[in-house]
Amino acid sequence: MLLGILNEDDSRVAIVPEVIGDLKKIGIQIQVVSKSGEESGYSDALYKKQKVTITTKKKILESSDILVSINPLPIKDHRQAQKNAVFISRYAPFDPTVKIDQYFQKNHCLFSLDMVPRTTLAQSCDVLSSLASIAGYKSVISAAEYLPRYFPMLTTSAGTVPPAKVLVIGAGVAGLQAVATARRLGAIVEIFDTRSSVREQAKSLGAKFVEVEGATENKSAGGYAVEQSKDYKKQQQLAISNSIQKSNVVITTAQLRGKVAPKLITKQMVESMAYGSVIVDLASSTGGNCILTKDDKIINHKGVTIIGDSDLSKKIPNHASLLFSKNIVNFLRFMSNTKDKFNLSFENEIIAESCIIRYGKKVGKKI
Ligand code: NAD
Repeated sequence: MLLGILNEDDSRVAIVPEVIGDLKKIGIQIQVVSKSGEESGYSDALYKKQKVTITTKKKILESSDILVSINPLPIKDHRQAQKNAVFISRYAPFDPTVKIDQYFQKNHCLFSLDMVPRTTLAQSCDVLSSLASIAGYKSVISAAEYLPRYFPMLTTSAGTVPPAKVLVIGAGVAGLQAVATARRLGAIVEIFDTRSSVREQAKSLGAKFVEVEGATENKSAGGYAVEQSKDYKKQQQLAISNSIQKSNVVITTAQLRGKVAPKLITKQMVESMAYGSVIVDLASSTGGNCILTKDDKIINHKGVTIIGDSDLSKKIPNHASLLFSKNIVNFLRFMSNTKDKFNLSFENEIIAESCIIRYGKKVGKKI
């Protein structure tokens, strides 16, 4: 079984040399386009050391049984791939702007990693968690870079410097990692989420959980948050507004799967923050949690820096690629019904749920 890796327009690479041995054990050989891992610190020499074939994009597309990529490959690459090719990437089929029909090609099978269920069993192949955790960490490091103040409390020859105050909105994987990182840097942290189930997790990391009563939670949403009532939104605005004016840094991560991100920070709230404060909006690709956020841009509004970046793991490409690769190895193990000779099987629940196109035809539950 041949697995191909292309040189994507991304700082990360889907398979790093460190996992080649594990893939060989399940009967998968790798071929890579030259320089695919260069930006993330994985040179061609490192791949060659693992006896990986370095070849052209054309050859890889035409001969690979499996193509794994961080981002969906361009449609022309899908068309060029061989008849029964299997594609593994993050297709976001729940996003209404994504045209899944264009991938109904030949006898292709598509597996979308963002459809992997968020369960304990599936944790080892959860790329969303791996990348979100890196983004949460980097959001705090980025904020610290822009903040014209210290994060920790310090006793200096000139007196005591108070610690930075950080507000994190959304206690998912990225938010909790942001809490942990900000706490390690010595900040005082508050966190807010509509899901009360995360209260204890946030507290155990040393953050104060900002309570707003009456949130709507939906157990059948797979752990994901749902749209809130008008009344709740009003109360939430008040709570965020009180907290934000005391904060030096705000990290926002609130997402609604397949929908525009909730607008939680108004212009007035931004203007209530002290000069030099920083907002990092990790929900920028789906519209942003802050009304002023511009996706993939860093702007300054009346002295407040607003960083709009939903893909901060790109800025830690070495580890992002390594974690992604390890998740893929585990995913492929679930996918094969034999241990030493890869054999595509849809029996496993994780594989069945993440398959969005099976032999050229749309499958899966309604998204
Ligand atoms: P996400 O990126 O979908 O959302 C980030 C956070 O924003 C969530 O905690 C969400 O509740 C919160 N949010 C949404 N709207 C909000 C609002 N209006 N105000 C405040 N907060 C709001 O989250 P994620 O990190 O992808 O996690 C999604 C779910 O999957 C969570 O329940 C998480 O615990 C679960 N999960 C489970 C596993 C596992 O068991 N294997 C692994 C990772 C995540």
